[in-house]
Amino acid sequence: MRITLVQGDITAQHVDAVVNAANSSLLGGGGVDGAIHRRGGPAILAECRRLRASHYGRGLPTGQAVATTAGELPARWVIHTVGPVHSAGEDRSELLASCYRESLRVADELGAASVAFPAVSAGIYGWPLDDAARIAIGTVRATPTEVTDIRFVLFDPDAYAAFERAL
Ligand code: ADP
Repeated sequence: MRITLVQGDITAQHVDAVVNAANSSLLGGGGVDGAIHRRGGPAILAECRRLRASHYGRGLPTGQAVATTAGELPARWVIHTVGPVHSAGEDRSELLASCYRESLRVADELGAASVAFPAVSAGIYGWPLDDAARIAIGTVRATPTEVTDIRFVLFDPDAYAAFERAL
């Protein structure tokens, strides 16, 4: 498994699957979620709505992952995962680790060889960057997977620097 860091926009990545830091509604939101739906077009949201209706009436639980088409993105699939909101009073790192493990499990089911991850939970959900980066890198390194190319796509220089330190 090769892990690389990229500073840029995850929606532009030519990989088999891009991971979305979704919210449990699966119906879109801000940050990376908004960018994926904007750039990927309506096919992604349509499939998310079908998944809500068929499997996740109460939403996708935190720490789980599910795949849809990638619509007009260069990738083939979007893997939606719901990160935990950071809490100062409660250690939710296991749920954040689960996002990476479950996304890789779904990638294996799809047969994806290359996967791009954003810094899940490190935006609107408020996770401190260094901690988010350590959990992200540590978990993918420790997860048995057929994925050979893992790319962390960091939107801003601060996130990139945190992932570089963690790597
Ligand atoms: P969360 O709600 O899980 O915190 P966000 O989308 O708010 O998710 O943020 C997760 C990370 O994704 C943040 O570091 C944010 O800067 C970054 N981000 C936002 N847009 C993009 C994008 N187009 N490509 C890659 N990363 C992005």
